[in-house]
This record gives sequence, C-alpha cells and structure tokens, in this order.
Amino acid sequence: MPRAIISGQFSDNQIVADLEPQFSQYPANKLEFLLGAASSLDANSNSFTVTLNKGGQKVVKYNRLIIATGSSAKDGMPWKLGASAGITLDSLHELQDKIRKAQTVVVAGGGLTGAEMAGELGFEYASQSKKEVIFIYNDMISKTHVTDVTTEGANTIIKVRGSDGEMSSVLAQTYIPSLGLSPNTAFAPASMRNANGYLKQMTTLQIEGHPNIFVATHFIKNLSTILSGGQMLEYSASSRKFYGFTLDRSRAIGQMGNCKLFSLLV
Ligand SMILES: Cc1cc2nc3c(=O)[nH]c(=O)nc-3n(C[C@H](O)[C@H](O)[C@H](O)COP(=O)(O)OP(=O)(O)OC[C@H]3O[C@@H](n4cnc5c(N)ncnc54)[C@H](O)[C@@H]3O)c2cc1C
Repeated sequence: MPRAIISGQFSDNQIVADLEPQFSQYPANKLEFLLGAASSLDANSNSFTVTLNKGGQKVVKYNRLIIATGSSAKDGMPWKLGASAGITLDSLHELQDKIRKAQTVVVAGGGLTGAEMAGELGFEYASQSKKEVIFIYNDMISKTHVTDVTTEGANTIIKVRGSDGEMSSVLAQTYIPSLGLSPNTAFAPASMRNANGYLKQMTTLQIEGHPNIFVATHFIKNLSTILSGGQMLEYSASSRKFYGFTLDRSRAIGQMGNCKLFSLLV
C-alpha cells in the first residue's frame, strides 16, 4: 500500500478487487455473500445485524461466528480497506493529490508503514530534490514526538518535541500520520472488548465466556475443528521478530530472529 500514495504507480483495480465474483462458484443456498458492515452483535440470541451497502439491514443467526474485521489505520489514513472500496479509493486519491501539490511532505511514525512510506516518497521526490520529505519517528535513536497538529490555510503545522526536550515546529502542505492501527470492534458489546478496544480473545481464539465466537487474525489452522465443535488448539504468540519492508523501489530491509535480512532476500 505505501507505494500507492504516489499517483500513477498502480491503477485502482490493482489496489482493490471485487470479492463477490470470487465466491460465485459456491451454491447460493450454502454460501451467502452480504456486502455491508456488521453493526451490532447480540450473543444472547446468537445473531448479529448487518447494515447493507445497498441500504437496509439484515439480521443473521449463527451457530458459530468467526470475526475477522481486522483493524483500521488511525486518523482515517487509507492503509487498510475502509467502509467501502469507493471510500478507500476516494481517500487515497485525495492523499495522492495533496502529495502532488505539496512542497513539503511530513511522514510521522517509524513503524513499517511510516518507514515504507518515507522511503517511497524519498525515492520519488526527495532524491531528485522535487519536494522536501521529512520523516519523524520516535524509536530508541530519534525519540522525536509529534505533540500537536493544526492547520492554517493550505499549511499544516506540526509541533515536535526532540530527543533533548526542545520544542520546534515543522510546516508542511501534506502531513501523513502513520501512527498505528485501531481494532474494528465497535459492533461488539462493550463487555466483549478490553480497555484498548480489542476483543477479549483466549488462547483458543474464542472470546471469553462465548465458546461459539472466534476471532481470526491472519489465518486459522484448525478451521474444521471450529466448525465441527471439536477441542480447540491453544495458540501462543511468537516472540521471534520476523519482518521485512521496502525502503524504496530498489532496497529493502528486514529481521529474522537475531539476523538482519539483506535487501536481496526481502
Ligand atoms: C501499509 C501496510 C502494509 C502491509 N504489508 C504487509 C505485507 O507485505 N505482508 C503481510 O503479510 N502483511 C502486511 N500487512 C499486514 C496485513 O495488512 C494485515 O496483517 C492483514 O490485513 C490482516 O488481515 P485481516 O483480514 O485480519 O484484517 P483486515 O485486512 O483489516 O481486513 C478486515 C476487513 O473487515 C472489514 N470490516 C471492518 N469492520 C467490519 C464490520 N463491522 N463488518 C464487516 N466487515 C468489517 C474491513 O473493511 C476489511 O475489509 C500490511 C499492513 C499495512 C497497514
């Protein structure tokens, strides 16, 4: 996704695809495709309500429920699919346009998304001095924090506290916050969510107190166990670091355990 913020790199249909035709091979009386958003969940009656994109609502009953609603980027940034493909693309086009017109672009947040984004902008614009690109991050080396963001006409003023505690301001025409993700769990009752808004998932992927509701992250190894009501496997999170990300169109970096991954491998 980070490269998609540079206009002309990808066409819209390389970014989003229509899912419904992919499911047309299955009999309609066995697999029902609803385009919409789960808006409420009532575990007492084993049902949830879907607000349909075409209008109206539909109540769906379940025996077992698998929740895979993922997360959204903070500050409405289009790094994940939003309420619909159209809304995501509109938001992406708006950002591309702002970047195209800006003299200075600020990326805040040194996670994988922010670092990839800064690399893409650096490659496209800063390397040829077409635009100034400023990357603000606050890990062990830099410890620079964005403390306040305001707009004044076409400019965004970003107040920053440096590692020495000194305050300063950066003026930009485009500000790109890449400050993490929030879980898409607003439809679930408050009793199912923890203080950070995440569902109270147990190591068996079930929600505490609701053995027929499961939370899926990337993939589920024992899906057939879930559907047949068998004994669930216990999951444990790996503490091993394993990631890779691009720094521009020609270089990448990563880590596997204690080993650095070289550009060519990523
Ligand atoms: C910039 C970026 C780059 C990444 N690059 C990589 C990579 O190279 N490799 C990799 O493995 N991972 C990558 N990731 C991580 C990857 O995107 C996530 O791990 C993955 O998207 C998780 O998938 P998911 O299906 O659980 O959730 P999501 O992708 O968040 O999907 C959840 C879906 O549920 C929908 N939804 C939300 N609320 C509701 C609701 N109430 N009702 C119905 N539907 C709802 C959302 O619209 C969305 O379509 C990247 C992430 C980002 C942000």
